[in-house]
Amino acid sequence: MKIDIFGLTIEELQEVLVSKGLKKFRAKQIFQWLYQKSVFDFSAMHNLSKADIAILEENFTVLPREITILREQNSSDGLTSKLLLGLPDGNSVETVLMHHDYGYSVCVSSQVGCDMRCAFCASGLKGAVRNLSAAEIIAQVYLFNERIREHKQMVSRVVVMGSGEPMLNFDAVLGALDFLHREDTCFMSYRNMTISTCGIIPGINRLAEQGKPINLAVSLHAVRNDLRTSLMPVNKGFPFVDVIAAAEAYSEAGGRQVTYEYILLKDKNDSVQDAELLSNYLRYKHASVNLIPANPVPEQGFERPSKAAIERFVKVLTKNRINATVRKEMGKDIDAACGQLRAKFAKEQEKK
Ligand code: SAH
Repeated sequence: MKIDIFGLTIEELQEVLVSKGLKKFRAKQIFQWLYQKSVFDFSAMHNLSKADIAILEENFTVLPREITILREQNSSDGLTSKLLLGLPDGNSVETVLMHHDYGYSVCVSSQVGCDMRCAFCASGLKGAVRNLSAAEIIAQVYLFNERIREHKQMVSRVVVMGSGEPMLNFDAVLGALDFLHREDTCFMSYRNMTISTCGIIPGINRLAEQGKPINLAVSLHAVRNDLRTSLMPVNKGFPFVDVIAAAEAYSEAGGRQVTYEYILLKDKNDSVQDAELLSNYLRYKHASVNLIPANPVPEQGFERPSKAAIERFVKVLTKNRINATVRKEMGKDIDAACGQLRAKFAKEQEKK
């Protein structure tokens, strides 16, 4: 069995390389190839000797090389790419690259599937299969780094907002973010990282204990208890009022503003009363609202509100001095809502 070296710390890398007879100083060189140059083929690492390359190829693998791209969808404006990645164990996850005017940002998945069973979401259609490892999360970023390296660019923002509930895979998610933060990898500021949760309070509290300026996003989506429970069963265990309190404590501890995500679902949570209620909960908080016009998932029968209804909702929030933005539609033509590409792919496979 070959050892996969992707995601090892430099000390760990040193150890495994030396155990196969390589010199200690090679670790630093290989580390640089992997994480500063996004080069994953040993044979392309020019400063290694032929003999070393042969040892490396015989004994080690590098995760991004072991991942296959099962599907790729690029938005018509060329700014968003979504990949369906085939992992070595046969599972698949989605990951999205967005090109903004301020740089490249990646939306990574944290689990294969999801157990949260949100009624509008495609990721949880079949439950969670397993957690992703830190290396698998880092690899999602580096597969894109490899693609943009010809432009001398690297991903500068990561949002953990793909499939899965990151707070239920806390150690791997934090491990991945810490790795990307290192000076000798992406050197990405924690301020450019965001974790999005459906409201797992112990996870929010653990994140607060970390004392890192990582952004917190909370998927709120409804502010009436019955409605939220019917849309997001997690609300039974962690009622949204308590979630808002935990998020507020997080923001106070670290000085970071919390983003509340609110999917607008036609005739479900998009009324003026809902907007007023939402304003009441968030008034005087260090918070902003990101409104997401629903990406309809065919299986679930939700619709997107009209443009007028969306504008009406924003107007109420603005009147109440709640900072609100409507999410830019970067990927409507590429099944960009969580899990939609994977679900579609699985369906196609079933038909075969
Ligand atoms: N489990 C985490 C992160 C993954 S979901 C969380 O709940 O925050 C990322 C975001 O996409 C969440 O806000 C989720 O509610 C939203 N989302 C899921 N399905 C969607 C859909 N069909 N249309 C629009 N947004 C969706």
